[in-house]
Amino acid sequence: KRLILIGPPGSGKGTQSPIIKDEYCLCHLATGDMLRAAVAAKTPLGLQAKEAMDKLDEMLGKQGVKIDKVLDFAIDDAILEERITGRWIHPSSGRTYHTKFAPPKVPGVDDVTGEPLIQRKDDTAAVLKSRLEAFHKQTEPVIEYYSKKGVVAKLHAEKPPKEVTEEVKKVLS
Ligand code: ADP
Ligand code: ADP
Repeated sequence: KRLILIGPPGSGKGTQSPIIKDEYCLCHLATGDMLRAAVAAKTPLGLQAKEAMDKLDEMLGKQGVKIDKVLDFAIDDAILEERITGRWIHPSSGRTYHTKFAPPKVPGVDDVTGEPLIQRKDDTAAVLKSRLEAFHKQTEPVIEYYSKKGVVAKLHAEKPPKEVTEEVKKVLS
């Protein structure tokens, strides 16, 4: 199965994707970031979203990529600042922690390797604002596009991680 995970920064894509991979052996995971980059690369600034999406579709089509499901990590913007500013990452594995919602056993240290965790430089309230603007402008039309194809599953991404995982499992079963 080919999946796309779409959601704003901090909506939980990175947290859920290893679980999805482990449970379902899915090798083709993409995030909205990939799509965003593709859109940016394919279209000059100022092109309408429609045109951008047509080109994206053409690009995926040319590569013979059929998308089976789009997981829409739907969440209110207001929740994201706390998610983003508390995020800590183990760079080499991509494991993600949160000071409040998913704390490591030892602060600043990866549970598995004992290596140090980092905070992304752009994980600030100010930068989040512009990343959210980009999300609403460039990535939300992608959800719309796939909705028309009937492959979008909307998740309640504001729920605790385990509940989101349960929703993901239901959608993929
Ligand atoms: P999002 O926050 O929606 O995932 P970004 O475009 O900000 O989108 O980042 C895309 C991905 O690139 C992130 O999910 C992360 O895995 C990786 N990434 C980007 N910048 C950094 C960084 N400074 N440190 C570690 N990982 C990063
Ligand atoms: P994304 O990849 O969509 O940018 P992450 O998976 O990195 O988002 O999650 C952002 C932050 O929020 C991380 O610190 C993560 O530990 C935490 N987090 C992820 N999912 C949840 C959740 N359902 N509830 C509370 N915190 C979460």
